[in-house]
Amino acid sequence: MNERDSEQVAQTFSERGYTLTPTEQDADAILINTCSVRDQAEQKALGKMGMMGKYREQRPHVVYGFMGCMAQSRGPELFERVPHLDVVVGTQKYHRVFDYVDHILGRRMEGRMDEVGPEMVSVRVEDEVTQVNADKIISARLVDTAEEQDSQNTIRDHVPSKTRRATSFVSIMQGCNMRCSFCIVPDTRGKERGRPIPDIVDEVQRLVGEEGIKEVTLLGQIVNLYGRTEFEKIDGKSPFVQLLEAVHEVDGIERIRFTSPHPIGYRDDLVEAFTYLPKLCSHIHFPMQSGSDRILKLMRRPYKNEKFLTICDKMQAARPDLAITTDIIVGFPGETEEDFQQTIDCVRHVGFDNSFIFRYSKRKDTPAAEMENQLSEAVKEERNQALLKVQDEITRAKNGALIGTKQTILCEGPSKTNKERLSGRTSQNKIVIFDGDAERMTGEIFDVNIEDSTGFTLYGTPELS
Ligand code: SF4
Repeated sequence: MNERDSEQVAQTFSERGYTLTPTEQDADAILINTCSVRDQAEQKALGKMGMMGKYREQRPHVVYGFMGCMAQSRGPELFERVPHLDVVVGTQKYHRVFDYVDHILGRRMEGRMDEVGPEMVSVRVEDEVTQVNADKIISARLVDTAEEQDSQNTIRDHVPSKTRRATSFVSIMQGCNMRCSFCIVPDTRGKERGRPIPDIVDEVQRLVGEEGIKEVTLLGQIVNLYGRTEFEKIDGKSPFVQLLEAVHEVDGIERIRFTSPHPIGYRDDLVEAFTYLPKLCSHIHFPMQSGSDRILKLMRRPYKNEKFLTICDKMQAARPDLAITTDIIVGFPGETEEDFQQTIDCVRHVGFDNSFIFRYSKRKDTPAAEMENQLSEAVKEERNQALLKVQDEITRAKNGALIGTKQTILCEGPSKTNKERLSGRTSQNKIVIFDGDAERMTGEIFDVNIEDSTGFTLYGTPELS
């Protein structure tokens, strides 16, 4: 989701004459879109921004900004952590970033750095705007973390790609109405707000027409709850299923994915959609978080594990070749060996194709951070390693079983880890690496004979060569 938001901001800059630079040393504005899901992500963003202050000595006009979740949750406090910071823009104001940066940069480029003052006050939205004037370097200290109605409708443009690309993210909603006790998202992203179906379909049509995109991934915090407060059910179908049907109708779109769904609101109409919408990929990323009802309750996830497992069973019946991946938190406060064993049992029962396993880490201002019975890092690490081992066995067995089969992939272009080779994904979202001509094959769908697997990645020879 952050990637998609960043693309939207990049597009507003490029359509108004700015260029994306390959390295930050050349940039006149350096913006970091921040994540608050884990403390580590925040520390990394703060460290990176801190280090980039060195460029101001040689290039004092450079504008520095934080956007996104950490900007939203920490606001003006960030100026104390990073003295050279100019702009802090929250999650509902991505569309204002350009105006703020351009205004500051314009002043500085005109050599009127000492005048970045009174006018700035006119563009501030909240909090005190002050200036720091140390060694003639002025930090603009502009913060905008206010809520904005309809901000979900501002994430709709894409940066035209210089090279062919096959896939794109499409943001269909913002916010989340749940209050999971470990999560800071409801505070940083606000309440659920969906975009109208025609606007989303229009965006998908533009991606097909202008970029030749063949696969879209629909994004939302709880994607299956899309539109439930704004739009009506029709013929028993939720707004999300209506949206899937509408995107399915777009000529040129071959594959549809979505992330992430939640057991709440995952109803039979969505299960059934997998039986009559063939463009829906045979993969869901379905966060389980824990296999213990007691821990789910402490996490404030309002369902029992049986419900999660029943949905997985129904989905596997609706689409027999379905791959399911998940997110799991180990070492949540109060998690006993028995709770942890229940998580392992569920992982084995579902047979996840892959799991993203996180050691619980405290997030400021979340209820779980204040809970008693916080576990030691040693216990968290031990459980993390134990669960990784279980998942590794399952993944290796599943991917190993694909050796000798033919898999249909969408070629995404050069592999991220080896530019000499190409990479594509199966409908089940498994990465396949092979040799071929990037120009000719990127964006094409074809079969690959699978010859090897290193656990998480498959290797093969394409039939189209
Ligand atoms: S469902 Fe829970 S974990 Fe997911 S974004 Fe909402 S509050 Fe956070």
